[in-house]
Amino acid sequence: MMASDDALLAGDIRAEVRTWIDDHWNPQQPLGEWWHSLAQSGWGFPDFPERWFGRGLPGESRRIVRQELQRAGAFGPPHGIATMMVAPLLVEMGSDEQREKWLPGIVDGSEIWCQLFSEPDAGSDLAGARTTAVRDGDLWRVNGQKVWTSGGHYAKWAILVARTDPAAPKHSGLSFFGIDMRQDGIQPKPLVQMNGSAEFNEVFLDDATTAHSHLIGEEGKGWPVALRTLSYERESLDADAEPGIQTDLDLSIAAARYASGEIADGSEGFMPGGLEAWELLCSVIAANGQQTDPRIRDRAVKIYTGIKTSSWMSQRFAQAPEVGAEVSLGKLAATQLMRDWRDLALTALGPNGQLLDGEGTFDGVPAQIALSVPGLSIAGGTDEIQRNIVGERVLGLPREPRPSNE
Ligand SMILES: Cc1cc2nc3c(=O)[nH]c(=O)nc-3n(C[C@H](O)[C@H](O)[C@H](O)COP(=O)(O)OP(=O)(O)OC[C@H]3O[C@@H](n4cnc5c(N)ncnc54)[C@H](O)[C@@H]3O)c2cc1C
Repeated sequence: MMASDDALLAGDIRAEVRTWIDDHWNPQQPLGEWWHSLAQSGWGFPDFPERWFGRGLPGESRRIVRQELQRAGAFGPPHGIATMMVAPLLVEMGSDEQREKWLPGIVDGSEIWCQLFSEPDAGSDLAGARTTAVRDGDLWRVNGQKVWTSGGHYAKWAILVARTDPAAPKHSGLSFFGIDMRQDGIQPKPLVQMNGSAEFNEVFLDDATTAHSHLIGEEGKGWPVALRTLSYERESLDADAEPGIQTDLDLSIAAARYASGEIADGSEGFMPGGLEAWELLCSVIAANGQQTDPRIRDRAVKIYTGIKTSSWMSQRFAQAPEVGAEVSLGKLAATQLMRDWRDLALTALGPNGQLLDGEGTFDGVPAQIALSVPGLSIAGGTDEIQRNIVGERVLGLPREPRPSNE
């Protein structure tokens, strides 16, 4: 497609979604109802096929819709493991039966999912997973232990990597399932993190069951499904910028918006490219009267540039027919950007930046974010693993040694 055709299409999408939002957005409407109507309209996930709650539009349409929702002050679609990873996976690799069963609860936010991948001895080396699934008629019986399961204590469903053929070579003995978290055989135990939250879980699976129809992909071919899921996760952890970032670096406006409560606090979903991340940084700087300090402004501009550049890169990825090592580069850019954000925020705040909760500036949110930043370099594949991927696939360096028993 020619660039001018792209622009035309983008303009059409913008006009159409703008009309739809103006006709339907009602701030008094309960969130669940809004999400439901957004999903039914196909505007929540416009790049999904029409049959599956989308409009069959290019990936870039998501950004346009997000911008228009933000312009109207309306909520975006639900966001989490379910929408980031499970929904695109089901659209791409699920059966119609699985899509019919699971997509409605995902796109309207009524069913939360978690990710049962990592194990005590299988994190970066996910293919070393030891949790087993054994066929028993129409069921699979699952036994083992997972760890670092975000949201496992409140999720309704999980995606699960389990070993179905212990005799097969490591990667080919795995299968990929959906599994109901709310059953006696699954016990999540929350773990407290250094940022004070208890979002992670150890999850013990003791003769848990899942239906054979919940096998996603073929038996013994779970590894490529897991890899595809991880690439969705990494894409969603890149530094994709939210729209509406202030281009004039007017720090006082952001401070006023924060003070009025317009900008939410908390570190959940707080990504480097997010509007909140930029505005909170501006607010932090302004709160300490440093908006005219050239050294602070210089570092702020660097972060702003990083946000804009990453956003540009993400737009290109969204248009690419197939994405490979780009997601690793995007994730590395995001983790670096977030570290820069943390360092500047803590410099601006001084010792006060160490205080959590009510004792610190902005209710300790900057301190909480600072304590959450290291996790971004681990979640969804560590920085080292992303660098290995970039080294091998982009730079053509020799293959890194792999753990034994491949
Ligand atoms: C915020 C957060 C949320 C998470 N949510 C989930 C979740 O919902 N579900 C889930 O299943 N897991 C989740 N995880 C777990 C995450 O996927 C793992 O922590 C991650 O894959 C690393 O595995 P590990 O902790 O076992 O570390 P290890 O794999 O043991 O790695 C330890 C260190 O060795 C390095 N290393 C390992 N292998 C190599 C190599 N080949 N080359 C170079 N360096 C290497 C690593 O980079 C790391 O520094 C989450 C983690 C975080 C921080």
